[in-house]
Amino acid sequence: MRAAVVRTLGEPLVIEDRPDPEPGPGQVLIRVEASGLCHTDIHAAHGDWPVKPSPPFVPGHEGVGIVEALGDGVTHLTVGQRVAAPWLGSACGRCEHCLTGWETLCVKQQNTGYGCDGGYAEKMLAEADFAQPVPDGIDPLDAAPLTCAGVTTYKALKVAGVRTGQLVAISGIGGLGHLAVQYAKIAGATVAAIDVTDDKLELAAELGADILIDARKEDPAAVLQEHGGAHAAIALAVHDEAFAAAYGGLRRGGKLVLVGLPAHGTMQLPIFNTVLNGTSVIGSIVGTRQDLDEVYRLHAAGRTRVIRQVRALDSVNESMDEVLRGQITARIVFEM
Ligand code: NAD
Ligand code: ZN
Ligand code: ZN
Repeated sequence: MRAAVVRTLGEPLVIEDRPDPEPGPGQVLIRVEASGLCHTDIHAAHGDWPVKPSPPFVPGHEGVGIVEALGDGVTHLTVGQRVAAPWLGSACGRCEHCLTGWETLCVKQQNTGYGCDGGYAEKMLAEADFAQPVPDGIDPLDAAPLTCAGVTTYKALKVAGVRTGQLVAISGIGGLGHLAVQYAKIAGATVAAIDVTDDKLELAAELGADILIDARKEDPAAVLQEHGGAHAAIALAVHDEAFAAAYGGLRRGGKLVLVGLPAHGTMQLPIFNTVLNGTSVIGSIVGTRQDLDEVYRLHAAGRTRVIRQVRALDSVNESMDEVLRGQITARIVFEM
């Protein structure tokens, strides 16, 4: 099978021929149909974060495909079924976090395309308990971006407790942001979309955003305050200053949800304002299997649109460069 492999952090990926992996006990072998390019895969390949992956590894945590073989003991999935292999590749199932619906915080978790090989390949392994069944009627090319971009932003809006009539700012209308705009509209919010490129702001408007803020030309915090301040801001852009701008755009009692993960990212939090304004700053990491199931069901019901550009895996390095240059509208999906 062919796979795109990170051999050295910071170097271009290498397309390699590898033997097909064999599913061990509790695992499934997936024939990958589609695999989305999340900005996280670029951070992984560059070794941007304090906890680094160990090369060689195959990135990708939006892999969707057909179960081709079952390892020993797998009884709830069948050969021929469509599943996805999300970032949460496994969790212990026994710790406080796992037992209270926060499996995404399990310290024993394994992450697909980071701690184990991911979806930039024709075949991949997944732990059967974390291979997410994809409902019938969802195009695998759509299911791929939903598997991270979708579930992550759906969860971020959930933790912000967004309700009808609130003003929600979405900072960064890329792969994640284009879905965040749609989930905020489904929740009944008024949506302010913030980005630095014209086509992304146009896309946000097409997807229902009510207020468009071009951070190159105007101060997002000031514009949001003119509208009374945001009840919640979801920070997805990969730039530290975008986090500060989102914070500055909150109203009293507002919630800032940190999702984007810029390399060496830091944020100065003014204690006085945070206390007096009763501001919440919350980190949010992907979503649970239950969240992902809800995301797929919304899509199957025709409530969301996935905007994507389909590419061959051979274009992986050029594709990453284009994402970094901000040239991609929403998501690139590799068709295997
Ligand atoms: P992306 O590159 O598709 O989108 C980023 C967007 O931010 C682009 O549209 C870009 O034009 C815009 N942008 C750049 N500078 C800006 C600024 N100053 N103000 C407003 N917008 C600006 O990336 P993505 O795949 O959507 O991922 C975004 C980030 O989220 C990455 O850091 C990724 O690693 C992270 N991520 C986090 C989680 C999580 O669970 N917390 C999950 C997935 C991705
Ligand atoms: Zn991701
Ligand atoms: Zn656990």
